[in-house]
Amino acid sequence: MSKPRIHILALGGTIATRPDTTGVMQMGLGADDLVAAVPLLTGIADIEAETVSRVGSHSLTFDQIHALATRIHALKVDGIVVTQGTDTLEETSFLLDLLLDLDIPVIVTAAMRNPALTSPDGPGNLLAAVRVATDPWVRAHAKALGVVAVMLDEVYAAVDVLKVHPTRLDAFASTQTGPLAALVEDRVVPLALPVRDAVIAARAKLGPRPSAARNTEYKPVALLSMVLDEPGGLIGALVRAPDRLGYGGAVIAAMGGGHVPERVVGGLVQLATVLPTVVSPRAGGGPMLRQTYGGPSSEIALRKAGLIWGGRLHPVKARILLDACLRAGLERPGIAELFDAFG
Ligand code: GLU
Repeated sequence: MSKPRIHILALGGTIATRPDTTGVMQMGLGADDLVAAVPLLTGIADIEAETVSRVGSHSLTFDQIHALATRIHALKVDGIVVTQGTDTLEETSFLLDLLLDLDIPVIVTAAMRNPALTSPDGPGNLLAAVRVATDPWVRAHAKALGVVAVMLDEVYAAVDVLKVHPTRLDAFASTQTGPLAALVEDRVVPLALPVRDAVIAARAKLGPRPSAARNTEYKPVALLSMVLDEPGGLIGALVRAPDRLGYGGAVIAAMGGGHVPERVVGGLVQLATVLPTVVSPRAGGGPMLRQTYGGPSSEIALRKAGLIWGGRLHPVKARILLDACLRAGLERPGIAELFDAFG
């Protein structure tokens, strides 16, 4: 029986670093190097390796991920594994999930420990990602699973996965839902299917290829976090600047169930009149309140004043979705409807 064809696309990141002459880690390894470090791979799949870039994921751009999605669409294979840095994996995987509608597994993986350290996790994560991509249950449920992340022998839905620690080996988690599957020995053990109705509805509204339909008026999305005694200076600057400082939308990482300091409410309400402004929970995701608290800075008042409720999306994921909306040229009512489906 022929082996599944798995295409590995390498972007860079810790998994692809090597030491320079001073011993400092630099981006450098390509997809062939990553594959060569894991001889077991060729026993389980026919591997094609492609180096897309050699950049840290902290410097990746929306355009690069849109181009990656276009490249993935063009491939005729049984599964895709993307390797990149861990820093933005929670964002890029969700963006890919919005851009791709495939019935083959699409896996994003990375490494926390670089190849020069004792027991680096890159080779193990790559092997696990290919095992997941070739697993019969994963292949049969690829469309329902959407894009997934594989880190440290666990499989996470792109809409939920978060980087929850800057350095630890077990840096990834889906805090709202838990993993979809676990790798044990050489098996994938299914645990759950993700609820992705809102993602699928969003994709339908965004159009098949938001990247291709990129709105010429498009401008990026600002992300502002609300903190104790925040005076609201940046919100005021966005409102006053005629060009909105170059931004086309804003995400507000709000406190608790969707609250902000009372002193910023005036500015925030004005902001919502000039830019699509999404409120999202700074607690790290999870549905926010809609109708519990009263007062000027409550969820009831903010929603009434035109702030878009971001549902259960973590602020960085809400920013990815709002960016996709702006590229697709959606106006405020369409954006609000799309976010509403996220709870
Ligand atoms: N900041 C780099 C990146 O995200 C290294 C971190 C990593 O890959 O874990 O690419």
